[in-house]
Amino acid sequence: MSDTRTLDTFRAETRAWLEANCPPEMRQPMAEEDVCWGGRQFKFTSEAQRRWLEAMAGRGWTVPTWPREYGGGGLSADEAKVLAQEMRALNCRPPLYSFGIHMLGPALLKFGNEAQKREHLPRIARGEIRWCQGYSEPNAGSDLASLATRAEDRGDHYVVNGQKIWTSYADKSDWIFCLVRTDAAKKHTGISFLLFDMASPGVSTRPILLISGKSPFCETFFDNVQVPKSQLVGTPGGGWDVAKYLLMHERTMIGAIGDREARPLGRHAAQTLGCDAAGRLDEPSLRTRIAEFEVDEAAFRLTMERVADLAKLGQAHPAMASMLKYYGAELNKRRLELMASIGGHEALEWESERSRQGFVARAWLRSKGNSIEGGTSEVQLGVVAKRILELPGA
Ligand SMILES: Cc1cc2nc3c(=O)[nH]c(=O)nc-3n(C[C@H](O)[C@H](O)[C@H](O)COP(=O)(O)OP(=O)(O)OC[C@H]3O[C@@H](n4cnc5c(N)ncnc54)[C@H](O)[C@@H]3O)c2cc1C
Repeated sequence: MSDTRTLDTFRAETRAWLEANCPPEMRQPMAEEDVCWGGRQFKFTSEAQRRWLEAMAGRGWTVPTWPREYGGGGLSADEAKVLAQEMRALNCRPPLYSFGIHMLGPALLKFGNEAQKREHLPRIARGEIRWCQGYSEPNAGSDLASLATRAEDRGDHYVVNGQKIWTSYADKSDWIFCLVRTDAAKKHTGISFLLFDMASPGVSTRPILLISGKSPFCETFFDNVQVPKSQLVGTPGGGWDVAKYLLMHERTMIGAIGDREARPLGRHAAQTLGCDAAGRLDEPSLRTRIAEFEVDEAAFRLTMERVADLAKLGQAHPAMASMLKYYGAELNKRRLELMASIGGHEALEWESERSRQGFVARAWLRSKGNSIEGGTSEVQLGVVAKRILELPGA
């Protein structure tokens, strides 16, 4: 009872604080270009966006469950859930979105040494440094452990040579977390996990243009890049464990991707297409598809909460991240298909002002990548089959 009362108090205080501090502009539905990524190159799109980030970072609420000494809010998992619920109820946008928060941060909290945590975590929490992920290579995607980028031991530093591909936002990022091979004779145990500044001499990027007309990826090249040994996370040859742990968080993040869209689809459809005399969406077949989607989405959200509760008790199966990633990616693709159906021919427009420069068409195309990034759907289904359902391997 007393726990419930404490949480109720926390909920009331949180709601009051959000009401007072979240600017009205930050309670509008968010398009891709409204995402605050932080980092040295980031330009705020509005003063409200800057104020909202500062207010939330000041409370440690960009990373609510991280310890306070690393820039976090020190909240319990239950308090963080309340914060998320209250933010959703008020349509508050996430103040900061970054690979640092959802991917590197959790890995550093588990595997980083004290100096690395103190150097990097507070800057991630405040949105000062933007990170990119150097995992995939031209011949190492699903079979990531085949990676060939080498890091040679030169006493107090490594010299890194090789190439990464599909590095999201490499040209906009400040630092990279990168998998490198430190021992050519061993596959998994020859991999190490390095952090380095993208401004280091020898790092270069080349953007890859996509069908959506955007270029969120790069090829990333390393030509004799010197990396101090203090920037190795974990042990030499121990990078695969760090990489897998980080991937688990990445997959959970991708699974939750549809959660960023604050406005429910049904309401959006009703506003766009109108209602019949009974107040129902005036398109029976679309109404059914949306209803099915919203039921599945609600069930998925509850499943995510259940997995988070299990994780808190240390009882979540590590392969559950693959399950969430697979289903969340499929749901997000369905959401964008429905958005396109709701928008009709307007949703196919590419450059007009009324379509917000082809917002739906581009987002629909982008959603196709959800079932590839962070490990393909086929690979996730393989993990679920083998590790959760314990089916025999091929
Ligand atoms: C939007 C997006 C963002 C990305 N961002 C990054 C990033 O920031 N950093 C980064 O390092 N990488 C990034 N990637 C790359 C991504 O991790 C890889 O594309 C992914 O792991 C698949 O690797 P691949 O492209 O080499 O395909 P491949 O591994 O060559 O796979 C080709 C096909 O074979 C199938 N396949 C392969 N192995 C199996 C198997 N064992 N069982 C069943 N089917 C199999 C796959 O499912 C796929 O259909 C991103 C990709 C996308 C789409």
